[in-house]
Amino acid sequence: MKGELFIVATPIGNLEDITLRAIKVLNYVDIIAAEDTRHTLKLLNHLNISKPLISYHRHNEDIKTEDLINKLLDGKNIALVSDAGTPVISDPGGEVVKVALENEIKVTPIPGACALITALIASGLDAKEFAFIGFLPLNKKNRKEKLEEIKNETKTIILYEAPHKIIKTLEDLKEITKNRTIILAKELTKIHESYIKGTAEELIDRLNEPKGEYVILIQGAQKSTLDKEKEEINSLTIKEHYEYYEKQGLEKKDIIKKIAKDRNVSKNEIYKEFI
Ligand code: SAM
Repeated sequence: MKGELFIVATPIGNLEDITLRAIKVLNYVDIIAAEDTRHTLKLLNHLNISKPLISYHRHNEDIKTEDLINKLLDGKNIALVSDAGTPVISDPGGEVVKVALENEIKVTPIPGACALITALIASGLDAKEFAFIGFLPLNKKNRKEKLEEIKNETKTIILYEAPHKIIKTLEDLKEITKNRTIILAKELTKIHESYIKGTAEELIDRLNEPKGEYVILIQGAQKSTLDKEKEEINSLTIKEHYEYYEKQGLEKKDIIKKIAKDRNVSKNEIYKEFI
């Protein structure tokens, strides 16, 4: 009989944030696949659980997926954990879940702490609908595209970020979010947990050398503001419209695409104007 793959959430700080079911599953499985085995060992020691550990992280995800699948096909039950929070969410695990399902292996989620949900529920921002982006891309072009999405997003937006990149990310957000409220949810569930609120500009002024872990929450854009901006931009000449995006560092192809979208016309029409 095939084994079962459990995707187990672990605490994001406070070790008491582990569910009774997670403890039961960690005790039950034959193997625990962990992002960082030394890190997970500390949690297992705290819970008095002793199990064989296999490392499974983003740099060995491809090779280790095959290994885990073979073990599951062999009848072993495996729990997958990440360093903190819910695996798969901006963490390794997605690949093994996909391949396990392709092999008709049962995959069972064991829910628990997740930084984005923990941050959102006490932020006071609209939680009816939200857009989770995870880490912003580092690649310049992809990052610009994602920032543009954030600029036009009317739902609450949630980002993950490493502490040494918080200021740089706030600098990028400053350009597009202007007066929108941003909340930094810091060190959630830990002793120094705090929510820091302000515009991107205010937060940059207040933070110096950010340490600890942060989730960034951004108030969604107001539809009326977006409509007004669109109206203003569409009253420009096409040349001015082009220059507006050029200043933002966009490439010609993308600028044409955006102008066509703003003006609700085909790209060809915009190209013709240029010729
Ligand atoms: N899969 C995990 C989850 O969803 O809970 C997140 C893993 S991701 C690699 C790590 C990022 O999650 C950090 O850079 C930070 O943005 C956020 N994070 C994790 N723990 C946190 C905490 N205790 N307080 C604030 N942010 C946290």
